[in-house]
Amino acid sequence: MRAEIIAVGTELLLGQTVNTNATYLSQGLAELGIDVYFQTVVGDNAGRIREAIALARSRADLILFTGGLGPTMDDLTKDALAEYLGRSITEHEPSMAKIETMFKSRGVHMVESNRRQANLIEGCDPLDNEAGLAIGNALTVDGTHYVLLPGPPREMKPMFDGPAKAWLRGIMNEDRRLYSRLLKFAGIGESSLEQALIDLIEAQTDPSIAPYAKEGEVAIRVSTKALSELEANVRLDAAEQQINERVGQYIFAREDIPLEEAVVRQLRASRRTLASAESLTGGLFAQLITQIPGSSGEFTGGVVTYTNVMKHRLLSIPMSQLEGTGAPGAISESTAALMAERVRELAESDFGVSLTGVAGPSESEGKPVGLVYFGLAERGKPTKVFTANFNGNREMIRVRAAKSLLHRLWQ
Ligand code: ATP
Ligand code: MG
Repeated sequence: MRAEIIAVGTELLLGQTVNTNATYLSQGLAELGIDVYFQTVVGDNAGRIREAIALARSRADLILFTGGLGPTMDDLTKDALAEYLGRSITEHEPSMAKIETMFKSRGVHMVESNRRQANLIEGCDPLDNEAGLAIGNALTVDGTHYVLLPGPPREMKPMFDGPAKAWLRGIMNEDRRLYSRLLKFAGIGESSLEQALIDLIEAQTDPSIAPYAKEGEVAIRVSTKALSELEANVRLDAAEQQINERVGQYIFAREDIPLEEAVVRQLRASRRTLASAESLTGGLFAQLITQIPGSSGEFTGGVVTYTNVMKHRLLSIPMSQLEGTGAPGAISESTAALMAERVRELAESDFGVSLTGVAGPSESEGKPVGLVYFGLAERGKPTKVFTANFNGNREMIRVRAAKSLLHRLWQ
């Protein structure tokens, strides 16, 4: 927000009064984070005050006036602004009552012009004057904010520090936009992630750090309200840094992309290819990967070897490995490893992955529902096998198994 201060008063131009109000206001606005671009001084002349307003409007979002709110005929600020904006003047009842009471208590006859101090520009918010009689005005018209404060420093200061600052904070909040960043995690569960960040999640309000719940995804949303993207980024970067220090190794994206896309991008960056052999997931893994446009550069293909016969025929896995007494069986670490190795060789890819397990509803080979083995074969490296036990129904187990393999691939 760009601000301009207009000090109104011929005494300032004559050099009889030092413009200390401008200094005070500039300091106060700086503390609020509002940049003052101009300080203007104009005499008690309605035409020139309107000229000053027109110029300020062309180059500032916030115009603060000081001076010219008093009762005499040379106090013109309110009338000049009202005329400039084409608004009428209304009377602020509580201020009027205060003025009348003050004169009565002093036993002094009230000159009619004193009523002017209770004047408000139509549609403005009154700003209380605890040290004097002239009420302050604050209003927003066509995106420009106007604040009118009295001239005497002992009235201006408390009005600025109290009601005016409160009003300014209000408009700054309205002008703020919400900026947020999504951090997506793989290889860490939702509860472990929350545990690792719990103090930040609970204590931090700006930027706020909150778990982002979406089916099957673990993510954190960092948000802040700011006046500009630049301001937001400074705060978001700081919060992200804190998160990075604790769980940075699990972040796979700093934007809302699915894990399969992160995996494809990672393969692309390292110029490597991937092939898959699936049993219990029936092609779900290949489906996830091939959803990503352009993934043909990284994903060479996959096979669905659902039965033992197909595992044997397509992947040359010996029947003795798959069935018969004492055989490890189709659902085993060694079969997962063989499936991954054979599909990698078949496709001549850098990676070969496999999925074999029990999706349910009933157990298989005497192995429990939810048990899944993942094979991960990499050219020139020993093959790895991971085991997982998933909860849920058949569909959930299949989806979780496919996603889980992506997690392992990403790491
Ligand atoms: P009043 O009710 O006293 O007339 P006002 O809001 O109309 O208040 P002015 O008439 O412009 O304000 O100024 C009143 C007095 O306040 C001035 O004589 C001067 O002493 C002081 N004053 C006004 N403007 C400034 C300023 N910019 N910096 C410092 N003092 C100021
Ligand atoms: Mg005056």
